[in-house]
Amino acid sequence: MRALVLLAALVAVAAGTETFIGHQVLRIVPTNDEELQKVRELQDLEELQLDFWLSPRGLGHPVDVRVPFPSLQALKAHLESNGISYSIMIEDVQALVDHERTEMLRARRGLPLSTNTFDYATYHSLDEIYAFMDLLVAENPNLVSKLEIGRSTENRPLYVLKFSKGGTNRPAIWIDTGIHSREWVTQASGVWFAKKIVQDHESDEGLASILDKMDIFLEIVTNPDGFAFTQTQNRMWRKTRSKNSGSICIGVDPNRNWDAGFGGSGASANPCSETYHGPYANSEPEVKSIVDFVKSHGNIKAFISIHSYSQLLLYPYGYTTTPAADDKELHEISEKAVAALSSLYGTSYEYGSIITTIYKASGGTIDWTYNQGIKYSFTFELRDTGRYGFLLPAKQIIPTAQETWLALKVIMQHTLDHPY
Ligand SMILES: [Zn+2]
Repeated sequence: MRALVLLAALVAVAAGTETFIGHQVLRIVPTNDEELQKVRELQDLEELQLDFWLSPRGLGHPVDVRVPFPSLQALKAHLESNGISYSIMIEDVQALVDHERTEMLRARRGLPLSTNTFDYATYHSLDEIYAFMDLLVAENPNLVSKLEIGRSTENRPLYVLKFSKGGTNRPAIWIDTGIHSREWVTQASGVWFAKKIVQDHESDEGLASILDKMDIFLEIVTNPDGFAFTQTQNRMWRKTRSKNSGSICIGVDPNRNWDAGFGGSGASANPCSETYHGPYANSEPEVKSIVDFVKSHGNIKAFISIHSYSQLLLYPYGYTTTPAADDKELHEISEKAVAALSSLYGTSYEYGSIITTIYKASGGTIDWTYNQGIKYSFTFELRDTGRYGFLLPAKQIIPTAQETWLALKVIMQHTLDHPY
């Protein structure tokens, strides 16, 4: 065990990997407008290199921020001098990263030979996930196929699994995971969903009836460049890996790059920001490929984009306070989906429109899909609520995927029962 930890650390240093030694995740819960304002101002202090894991939502809602070791004393002093209290959510980020890496190394036994022996309770590399997809297709040629909808900035294939019992251009459900690369429980859940669909497509009456009428498309690694980067260089990478002209900072937030209120408030014009919207809408091939796919398909009826963390189920809009025309129906579906999700392990979720539940966000995925006419557009934020954040222990992958699947089934069933 010790040797493995040491090995992981040595490999990391040798590869020039970003380390998080002494970094802490602090939680601040603003209790009045002045505190909220002060916390918001922290987002503009570039010199502290703060990484907001949870951005300010409003009074009483936690803000989680990863603080690099060199900024720690300055930030704590700043907070204390302003009378803002904080708690330490993660004492040493690197310790969790090392633990995660050690578990991955221990679980690794070369590329999988069958999806039955694939280890769903561990995090996997990009190559392992791609190998999993090929196995699933090979084992189930009459149900599963793999499409390449485009290429990433670094020329990686953008693969989508298609689950279909036949027919042409049937109404379809779209699910994507991992558009923000560091949200590892989402890609891991995507893998689990793929296997679950294959396993249950006949035995689960509800799923069988869904697949009798509709196809399911699942993009597991929606941001492969970012995902590869989280595995080899920087575990906390969120954005794409495109170059920004005139800036040394890399990447665009692929959940601010869609053509829905693009460039409005709730996205940053600064290429160094984690919420940088990019030079123009659809500038990122990872986004453009989905846009082109959705438009050319023309019959997608539900679109579900999966993130982590904070345990939320959200629907449009994010860029405007004008309620979606289907606000009431989307709210009712969310209520049912969350009830189903919570029924398994008691995990509690909040739900509502993006702008009323979290904050204004422009250029988001599901605002664009909704405006495109996809009525059942949703975003999940999976586990947890901040104990581990993006570093959710691998033993929570399967429970997270299981409970989320129940909510997905509610949305898919509703879509089936309410054709439009
Ligand atoms: Zn995200």
